[in-house]
Amino acid sequence: MATNKNNDAAQDAAKKALAAVQAKKAAEKKKVEHTITHVGQESTSAEELLAITKKNATPYRIGAVVLWLLAIGFEVLAILFFKCVIQFSFTMEKPGWYAAWIICLVLDLICVVIGSLLWKKGNHLDPKSAKNKLTFWLHNNLGLVMAALAFFPFIIVVLTDKNAQKQSKIVAVAAAVVALIIAGLTGYDWNPISQEELLESAGVGDHVYWTESGTVYHAFEDCSHLNHSKELFEGTSTTAIEQGKTRICKTCEQRAEKEAAKADTVVTEVEQTPVE
Ligand SMILES: [Zn+2]
Repeated sequence: MATNKNNDAAQDAAKKALAAVQAKKAAEKKKVEHTITHVGQESTSAEELLAITKKNATPYRIGAVVLWLLAIGFEVLAILFFKCVIQFSFTMEKPGWYAAWIICLVLDLICVVIGSLLWKKGNHLDPKSAKNKLTFWLHNNLGLVMAALAFFPFIIVVLTDKNAQKQSKIVAVAAAVVALIIAGLTGYDWNPISQEELLESAGVGDHVYWTESGTVYHAFEDCSHLNHSKELFEGTSTTAIEQGKTRICKTCEQRAEKEAAKADTVVTEVEQTPVE
């Protein structure tokens, strides 16, 4: 009886161990199981590549300009409501008057912010040259300039308004300053990319990987950021850029640097070994 029990326990343990090994194998298999589609390169020269990136960025830039114009339109409306130039029956009453220009300011903010995000996306797809630092900065941070244009005139109009009540002026200036700060922070490009950097990274990798929705490309198929992506695309880094993946993934970049450093030390060790 006792031996039977021991046998059962041993069998149970063996079963559990086997299940654990199988689960581990399945997890590993799951990790690296990608369907990879090869994508061919369209451009061969830097000019061709830049023509493609420009084309990729154009819809985003048009969207940004349209939204920024809308934002200025809402600002003008906010000013007209605040100054009571436009008057509807509801804007004559106090809550209605507040609501009219505050809603316009909120719409102004929404348009500026979305416009700036589209503008930055366009700049990452089709970066400007960093040779002229001033134009590079201005181009990347046009959203910051637009944020100022979308709220400063309103603030000045409110501050110089002699008819409005002090309380309304305080509310209006506070609201516009908060909106200006939010719009400014989203308009600024914290991580700009230059045309020189883009061209430098083009053609560096023969086999890089990217996903449909991602914004970067990966040097390693088993990069941890690709664990949850079933469908991968593979091609040269130039192709990845053509597909709108303009940067290498940070994790892959660090890993590539580490591996290059390791390879270097091996080479120097071999070189230093005296040959007899
Ligand atoms: Zn990666």
